[in-house]
Amino acid sequence: MVDVLIIGAGPAGSMAAALLASRGYEVLVLEKQQFPRFSIGESLLASTAELLSDAGMLDAVMACGFQYKNGAAFVRDDLYSEFNFADKFSAGYPFTFQVQRARFDQVLANEAARMGATIRHEVEITAIDISGERPVVTAKAGDEITIHRPRFVLDASGFGRTLPRLLDLERPSDFPVRAALFVQVKDNIVSGELDRQKIRVGVHPTKGDVWSWLIPFSDGHASLGVVASQEHHAKFTGSNEERLWQLIAEEPSLRKLLKDAHTVRPVGEIVGYAAKVSRLHGTGFALLGNAAEFLDPVFSSGVTIALKSAKLAADLLDQQFRGETTDWETQFAEPLMYGVETFRSFVDGWYNGDLQDVIFFEQKDPVIRRMICSVLAGYAWDAKNPYTGPQSARRLRALAGTVRAVR
Ligand code: FAD
Repeated sequence: MVDVLIIGAGPAGSMAAALLASRGYEVLVLEKQQFPRFSIGESLLASTAELLSDAGMLDAVMACGFQYKNGAAFVRDDLYSEFNFADKFSAGYPFTFQVQRARFDQVLANEAARMGATIRHEVEITAIDISGERPVVTAKAGDEITIHRPRFVLDASGFGRTLPRLLDLERPSDFPVRAALFVQVKDNIVSGELDRQKIRVGVHPTKGDVWSWLIPFSDGHASLGVVASQEHHAKFTGSNEERLWQLIAEEPSLRKLLKDAHTVRPVGEIVGYAAKVSRLHGTGFALLGNAAEFLDPVFSSGVTIALKSAKLAADLLDQQFRGETTDWETQFAEPLMYGVETFRSFVDGWYNGDLQDVIFFEQKDPVIRRMICSVLAGYAWDAKNPYTGPQSARRLRALAGTVRAVR
């Protein structure tokens, strides 16, 4: 009898599966696609190393030879500001990786299977009934329909947003609609012109809400993308690839860096990626990672939130199955949202200019810079850091005010 049915074998699904299977629970992961498969989201944060280590998966990830990542670099015109995770305020791993997700997700899924989870590919969840004592889940593999009655369902279906759609939990995001054009390139960047151990986030010379990412991999390739409002995207015409290069041409230092680059995949586009739900849990189910909420890619928080949500849910389910009293609101949703709110205030601050002013200011107070660095490293749940949680937005605004007054 299945204890936990997990929808999707992305980072959230595999992490939850590994944690629960290693505690002896019967875990079934049903994944719509065949692996390996492409996924966006290649830049990780240092706190993911912590979470992967807790789940016994870090060694397998380290063995892959992914690009070592030790920080983030921000560029606007001739301004350059880098954050080294080693300088962070919070305790924990100071490094992580820039990963080709096809490989990374496959490795996590393999690890979950090694720990005892059953993973079936090309099986799609198409319906759920939560009115009875146990959730009743319908799965479709080709023409074959199967019905499952697990004790609990974790929805880790990412942008598939399976239970939010089936249970009418989707709500409009508070963020305006933004779109990303992205690709992988053979970058041919001359050695020394780019710190390959950091994500490079470039800001448009005149429009603070238009930005690019460049995430170098260890094999001479890189992930490249540009995010802008729909209005800004609409100024460019042609194929996705032509539009992407036109957008890149607007950022002279990026264009120069990529002068010899060529694409190795078709250019992809995601419009309106931000997502929100009315609640993160209900009778017999909880939502993990992107299946719940997605903010914005600017601080590479997606996989971190996915893994953190999986850890919180797996620990709580373990307690519940052992007969302890559990409260999914105070023990899952609220702790998870503490960090999500931290990232939200950073994303808001990025687009309203507050955080960009802070980032590009030569901060005289090293402690404040270390605190900001901690959040950029993914330690968004460290309550000792004043720039986390519900007070984060207010403190960031005050800091930006001080920076502007000094400047
Ligand atoms: P996913 O990785 O999306 O996995 C979900 C899995 O569920 C998929 O394999 C899918 O096939 C499967 N599935 C879906 N529906 C069903 C169904 N009905 N039945 C069965 N299986 C199903 N995050 C970062 O950390 N770093 C970044 O640099 C970054 N860059 C990004 C750039 C952009 C433009 C965007 C939009 C997002 C970015 N993200 C980034 C976010 C990141 O992609 C996601 O947050 C992350 O992949 C979420 O992991 P997950 O496990 O929740 O879901």
